[in-house]
Amino acid sequence: MADRVIPLLDQRIAALAVRVPPRAPAPSGLLTDTLGRPLRDLRISVTDRCNFRCNYCMPKEVFGKDHPYLPHDALLSFEEITRLARLFLVHGVRKIRLTGGEPLLRKNLEALVAQLAQLRTVDGRVPDLTLTTNGALLARKARALKDAGLGRVTVSLDGLDDAVFRRMNDVDFPVAEVLAGIEAAQAAGLARIKVNMVVKRGTNDHEIVPMARHFRGTGVTLRFIEYMDVGATNGWRMDEVLPSAEVIARLCAELPLVPLPASSPGETAERWGYAGADGRHDPQLGEVGVISSVTQAFCGNCNRARLSTEGRLYLCLFATQGHDLRALLRGGASDEAIAAAIAPIWQQRQDRYSELRGSVHASGERIEMSYIGG
Ligand code: SAM
Ligand code: SF4
Ligand code: SF4
Repeated sequence: MADRVIPLLDQRIAALAVRVPPRAPAPSGLLTDTLGRPLRDLRISVTDRCNFRCNYCMPKEVFGKDHPYLPHDALLSFEEITRLARLFLVHGVRKIRLTGGEPLLRKNLEALVAQLAQLRTVDGRVPDLTLTTNGALLARKARALKDAGLGRVTVSLDGLDDAVFRRMNDVDFPVAEVLAGIEAAQAAGLARIKVNMVVKRGTNDHEIVPMARHFRGTGVTLRFIEYMDVGATNGWRMDEVLPSAEVIARLCAELPLVPLPASSPGETAERWGYAGADGRHDPQLGEVGVISSVTQAFCGNCNRARLSTEGRLYLCLFATQGHDLRALLRGGASDEAIAAAIAPIWQQRQDRYSELRGSVHASGERIEMSYIGG
């Protein structure tokens, strides 16, 4: 088993050193990469730990009791995270998503949310501040997070059938407590709540229609995610991927849907609205989304950067190495120097793994989703 753990450690060690360019122009908020993609979305992982063991993400055999998680002093502090987030905002980031591991396991997360909520985008707006969670601790935390300034929340839930869900999270966690978390988030006033369901053929695909029926008309947007080949530990197989087109076909057979336009450039989900009796989208019934990471790559407008728990900047979910920003932070670099160092990293970005999937082999070990966040 140990030989399945070692590659993960190797990737962490093999961080890319970050250089500060000698002459850097002031940030314009308009950074683009080699494919013309702007930097808009920053996903920040606040912990590599989780209280679930979803078999597609942190299988128990790999993430066992002896798993070497990062020591606390390796993690970015809230002040370091906030400082980096501010420097990403000057380069055009508009949306900040906290993730993990399970972000609600990071002690006093609401204090970080409160710090991030003070930041502003280049055009002076409050950034879209959101969080992805498995929902286990949400009932307890929703109010404090909302009060601290969290705008939205996305909850992961892979089915309503308790036995199926308990098996998938592999820690025997009940559906009812996640549903209570979603209700608490609604009651706390967190807007536009989303529920993400990873669909694995043969495991939970029979839950697609019941999940849709459950959330239809509740104001919660359910999104179906194709099971992805992230990391190196989940034993991914293409025959377990249920293409989004099939999800939509199954839903349409029971609950009529109409296609909706994308809400923003870089939007990962294809949107479908529930149709009313007149065959048109009924906003009261809401909508669903499908995220076709495998069958329909959306790298062309991918504007997402990811900051790992220990301060490494990853340019793609499938990247094999991250750029070590923590070394700059802890080496005493100025804000200007760090902002200047971030710019060429994004400008040189070429990543488009999902478009190339199948035609390329990654040259190194892939990072795990639990390390970098979704
Ligand atoms: N623990 C939190 C949660 O589960 O929401 C946040 C981190 S989790 C890594 C972020 C998202 O990634 C979750 O919605 C999860 O379902 C999704 N995810 C993890 N592994 C995946 C995989 N192999 N394919 C597709 N989605 C995956
Ligand atoms: Fe934990 Fe989220 Fe990964 Fe499940 S998907 S193991 S809840 S980090
Ligand atoms: Fe973005 Fe990489 Fe995913 Fe493509 S594969 S959409 S570049 S994260």
